[in-house]
Amino acid sequence: MFAKVISSHVVGIDGLGVDVEVDINPIGLPVYLVVGLAEGAARESKERVRSALTNLDYRLFNHPVTVNLAPADIKKMGSHFDLPIAVGFIAAISNDLDIKDTLFLGELSLDGSLKGVSGVLCMCDWAKSAGLKRVVLPEANAEEALLVEGIDIYPFKHLSEVISFLKGSVQPPPASRTDYYSDIPEYKEDFSDVKGQFAARRAAEIAAAGMHNIIMMGAPGSGKTMIARRIVSILPPMSIEEALLTTKVHSVAGLLMDRGSLIKTRPFMAPHHTASDVAIVGGGSKAMPGHVSLATNGVLFLDEVLEFNRSVLEVLRQPLEDRTVTIARAGRTAQYPAEFMLVAACNPCPCGYFGDRRKECICSQLQVERYRARLSGPLMDRIDLHVRIPSTDFSDLKSSKAGERSADIRSRVIAAHEAQKARYMGMGVHFNSRMPEKMLRHKVADAALNTLEGAMRKLSFSARAYGKTLRVARTIADLAMSEYVTEVHMAEAIQYRGLL
Ligand SMILES: [Zn+2]
Repeated sequence: MFAKVISSHVVGIDGLGVDVEVDINPIGLPVYLVVGLAEGAARESKERVRSALTNLDYRLFNHPVTVNLAPADIKKMGSHFDLPIAVGFIAAISNDLDIKDTLFLGELSLDGSLKGVSGVLCMCDWAKSAGLKRVVLPEANAEEALLVEGIDIYPFKHLSEVISFLKGSVQPPPASRTDYYSDIPEYKEDFSDVKGQFAARRAAEIAAAGMHNIIMMGAPGSGKTMIARRIVSILPPMSIEEALLTTKVHSVAGLLMDRGSLIKTRPFMAPHHTASDVAIVGGGSKAMPGHVSLATNGVLFLDEVLEFNRSVLEVLRQPLEDRTVTIARAGRTAQYPAEFMLVAACNPCPCGYFGDRRKECICSQLQVERYRARLSGPLMDRIDLHVRIPSTDFSDLKSSKAGERSADIRSRVIAAHEAQKARYMGMGVHFNSRMPEKMLRHKVADAALNTLEGAMRKLSFSARAYGKTLRVARTIADLAMSEYVTEVHMAEAIQYRGLL
């Protein structure tokens, strides 16, 4: 007695098809084998399936049974094979189950109830592209599955309901799709909460407008974190494609069940400086996505960036350069997106109060120099904007006047993004931060180039700083809706090279 049920598996953020084959031999000793590189939770499915089926009065385990997960050369992890295996058992002994063109996924409790699993969006996406007609899964995953259009979603709470459905004794309609894309929520934190700090707010706006990486240096309590947290709120609303990509990464990481369905707001990831390489870039025994991928289409904030382990800053280079992360594991590679804006913050010296008006710095000159020297690492090479944040003026704090609202800043940022979209059409580049070398001097006024060359001599800019300044100047011009980069734009851009 044999049955084949369709399930899926996620590698990186891509779903792949897996055939779950169940073979029950009427003669022989009771042996229960799972083959096809099942690991961890997938291997343990054996006990959950046995218990769930036994509780539904299926006595199938007095015979030799083999479950094969094909193709056999991919390691399969996760508990979502429970449901397809259980369905395979019942299909092997009865001919009245309609399982064709159907993707099955879900974890079983010992009593047969269905529990939500991770990676559902990616697997449903695969099912649709493979031409399947419907997906049977736990009710807990229904919202996420409904994000994929063009395939019927049938959510259930219990294995017994699934069996009745497949036998045709109950015929519920597929779950209904509501409009998930309307109703984009506002961010909880708004720039109007930030009092004063005009220079830092301006730098944040430029960073958002050109998708430039930025570092802020200031004393503890100067508002660096407050500003960093609000940068997502001045970026344009996520497109459907962006929202789906970000949601997929969070789904694979198993973070979605707490957050509802589609992630509609840009993620803000702020790992602690004690975080490991694996936590930041991903990997580990399950090849999970790290913070760089979870921050896709949003902000990765490294507070106290100089306190991070040197190796963490080293491993960040590759995702910053390639915008993707490739994790190799057991001969296969998983690829995750890493399309994020880096926002870093640091203190001006080890004690934090160098140059502060409120508190005296207790560091020696040598300590300050050593500390600053650590800034000139590989990470800093990839940061376009540097900004010093002074301690907040007492008068700013006292004033009850709210700062400019995120929505107003955002409208200027959106206009600047549109200008860049038009400029880089068909070039595979979207933002000034990625402007190709050959375009650096495009539509830059001569006077602006003279200003830059003067600054290069005076401040001994490196060739890399030269390119960065031109890119930032272009963004400043875009915010001003100016076709040409002028002296004024260039002079402002030069100010944002202040830390090196
Ligand atoms: Zn100090």
